Amino acid sequence: MPVLRDLFIKLSEIKPINDASKQMGLRFGAQKVVGGITTEDAVKKIQELNNKGMSVTFDNLGEFITERSEANIEKDKIIEMIKASNQAKINAHLSVKLTQIGLNIDYDFALENIREIMKAAKEANMFVNLDMESYPKKVETMKILDELLKEYDNVGTVIQAYLFDSPQDVLKYKDVRLRIVKGAYKEPGNIAYQDKTDIDKSFFELIKAHLTNGTGFTSIATHDHNIINKVKAFVKENNISNDKFEFQMLYGFRTEYQHELVKEGYNFCVYLPYGPDWYAYFMRRIAERPQNINLVVKSVTTS
Ligand code: FAD
Repeated sequence: MPVLRDLFIKLSEIKPINDASKQMGLRFGAQKVVGGITTEDAVKKIQELNNKGMSVTFDNLGEFITERSEANIEKDKIIEMIKASNQAKINAHLSVKLTQIGLNIDYDFALENIREIMKAAKEANMFVNLDMESYPKKVETMKILDELLKEYDNVGTVIQAYLFDSPQDVLKYKDVRLRIVKGAYKEPGNIAYQDKTDIDKSFFELIKAHLTNGTGFTSIATHDHNIINKVKAFVKENNISNDKFEFQMLYGFRTEYQHELVKEGYNFCVYLPYGPDWYAYFMRRIAERPQNINLVVKSVTTS
């Protein structure tokens, strides 16, 4: 399995394939995990999910951003989606990676872009989540979060359970809305747990800490039923009301389980990626869980 994982990570990093795939539309089963290509596609998909009792966090996919002009195009597309969501009165908020709007180019430039996005989001009464990327980007992402928190209350970020410094972050941001995840990047042993058991243990500890300290809302983002069952028991034992937290999963993964959680009365939010830049996201999802190769096999054998 590690060989397959490395292969799909490598495939996700090939820019010429990424560029070619932008012209193709959704292919190879990607439509199962990506919500569409255009803003209109995404709004329609969000309406469908809202009708099933789920809220949505949307992610306008954008990869390999190295030029200011590209970052500005991404920022404009995100603002277009915020405005379209507001007009359509859908239940959705934004998830954004700061590298998509220029963090790999220049810190101040990215800060300027996220400020423009925050202004549009505030006008639309929408929450903005700063997605967390690999560790070298974490310090800058947290610095930008601190800047934004001086002006806005509708912004939060992601805490990765594999990082040793996450318990301090959860305490520091106890009054901020946080998404807690296991962590998706390959980080070295001097800053992050490597062992699955340690990561799972840290994950549950962080969830409990954020649920019981401060006023910040907790988004528990996982497909792991063991963790979800533990959270269900913990909130029951500690009389934590359902409006303090939600479960989040990626669009297209464990869909039946998602519906079950909604039926059980939990707040549930679907992470919906969309846009022509679907290829690298799709490859990373297969790398994360090579069983997802079934999506490709099914699409090829049924087309
Ligand atoms: P895993 O450890 O992958 O799986 C645990 C167990 O759950 C498996 O053994 C299996 O029994 C079951 N399981 C998992 N997936 C499936 C499936 N598809 N079908 C059936 N059973 C399954 N990471 C970041 O670093 N930054 C972010 O900003 C970020 N945002 C995220 C947002 C959302 C909404 C989600 C869901 C994840 C996000 N992640 C992010 C990714 C996260 O860090 C993990 O890499 C990813 O979620 C895989 O871990 P897991 O908790 O789902 O469980």
